[in-house]
Amino acid sequence: MSSSSTKRALVVGLGISGIATAIRLRQIGWEPVVVERAPSRRSGGYFVAVFGAGQAAARRLGFLDAIPDRSARANVTFTIDREGERKPGLGFGSIPGSPRLMLRGDVEQAAFATLPADVEIRYGTQPVRIEQDGSGVDVTLTHDGATTTERFDLVVGADGLRSSVRRLVFGPHDDHLHRLGYMISAFTLSQPLDGLDPQHGFTFFEPNRAMWLFPFEDQPHSVLFSYRTDDVDGEFIGRPVDRIRDAFGPEQAGPVLGPAMDALERADTFLFDAVEQARLNVWSRGRVVLLGDSAWCVSLYASMGVSAGLAGADLLGSMLQRHRDDVRPALRAWEAQLRPHITRYQEAGLDQRSFFTPDSERQIALRPVIARGIQLPVIGDAVHFLRRNSKATKERDVDIAHVA
Ligand SMILES: Cc1cc2nc3c(=O)[nH]c(=O)nc-3n(C[C@H](O)[C@H](O)[C@H](O)COP(=O)(O)OP(=O)(O)OC[C@H]3O[C@@H](n4cnc5c(N)ncnc54)[C@H](O)[C@@H]3O)c2cc1C
Repeated sequence: MSSSSTKRALVVGLGISGIATAIRLRQIGWEPVVVERAPSRRSGGYFVAVFGAGQAAARRLGFLDAIPDRSARANVTFTIDREGERKPGLGFGSIPGSPRLMLRGDVEQAAFATLPADVEIRYGTQPVRIEQDGSGVDVTLTHDGATTTERFDLVVGADGLRSSVRRLVFGPHDDHLHRLGYMISAFTLSQPLDGLDPQHGFTFFEPNRAMWLFPFEDQPHSVLFSYRTDDVDGEFIGRPVDRIRDAFGPEQAGPVLGPAMDALERADTFLFDAVEQARLNVWSRGRVVLLGDSAWCVSLYASMGVSAGLAGADLLGSMLQRHRDDVRPALRAWEAQLRPHITRYQEAGLDQRSFFTPDSERQIALRPVIARGIQLPVIGDAVHFLRRNSKATKERDVDIAHVA
């Protein structure tokens, strides 16, 4: 549609998926315009792991070297109870694969620094109407109460779980979002909790409720509360910290859970949300495509959302380059390559719910046993071998955006 030969794309959302998409579009000679609803960038955030699939995409996008690995070298996790008693535990390092561990803000910063400075970013701006014909997409954008309509060759909805692009083009949230029946809250401690080595991981489990303290080499723990609920709507009533205190019950919280909840109460920023997956039969309509959590949110339990967003952005550029004359075959080829992997990530998101939030005393009791077992020379070597070679491990580390 452009009068010049340069194609213009609107990227909705300046999260990791949106930034990666803008980088990739620029790499292939497109002109991306990014709109972000928030008034500024969203940096900082919670603990994330970037697996091989994401690392391969980040390398091609040009920022793999800028994403750190802040893994605590000690790699020791304890499970603790309300009295603060410790037993050997299974930490995030027990999830098979070769991840780099960091904060969400580390990936965001690395990607943002790679985005060419002249890519147009409009903050406080969002789409309110999207209409398309055979040759382009007309998008009405609102900013400060004023609306304008512009035409693009492609619209990429990278606007997260509750995507406006998806709602405008694919239908209401309820048609596509599936609640898993869990709530989470995540934040990063501003200072270490008393008596806890920041280099050690800690987990706290009771049936259907859990707390994780993720360790880093160079900063205080990142905290995750995760609990099961039959009434997701009810969890959004009142203060999040009160819902978490309710979820962990009236019993004495003790020397670790208690201070962690107090720290949440004082935290400047934290995340509190329902755990949901986005499931759509198709990720594009004409020249409008969804990418990242808006399309497939695999949930934090899969630990593949960042990797999938990076891989999706990288592959999108490759397919647009391969099918230069028409975006629609490019989008079909993109989805055909990506979907089988994303489906498996979503399955992992369901399978790993109980790893993050065990639902029975039996599961909880097994963990120290397994943790002790994998420290024994022969059993440990066998378990590590099986984990390294398991299908799930390979799936996380396989370069899903590779194009021959
Ligand atoms: C606690 C937690 C732990 C996690 N751990 C991991 C992990 O270990 N490994 C991993 O890979 N993933 C993990 N994830 C998932 C991962 O963080 C997400 O999948 C990923 O960040 C999603 O990126 P995104 O860019 O697709 O969406 P988002 O980060 O949601 O970004 C969407 C952007 O769009 C903007 N936006 C929204 N609506 C509009 C609109 N109407 N107009 C304009 N802009 C809009 C938003 O403001 C936002 O900036 C975790 C998630 C959580 C919550």
